[in-house]
Amino acid sequence: MNLPTDIPFANKRAMIDPEFLKLLACPACGASLAIQGDMLQCQGDSGCSRLYRVEDEIPVLLIEESIDPADGPADLGQDPS
Ligand SMILES: [Zn+2]
Repeated sequence: MNLPTDIPFANKRAMIDPEFLKLLACPACGASLAIQGDMLQCQGDSGCSRLYRVEDEIPVLLIEESIDPADGPADLGQDPS
């Protein structure tokens, strides 16, 4: 699925109700999450720091769908080699 890169809301911050955000936890380590640009980032002090995308205001809290900063750059189609 290819999305156009010029969608008008592409640069908006994630729209998550702060009260809802408080209820969320990182599925990898259970720490709280904070809005980071248009994603949610794990705030745990265990070095997790995973990033979760937000689709249609719904956080995708799946480990297999998350971005682990320790794994290097996010998979945006760039080949690290
Ligand atoms: Zn975490």
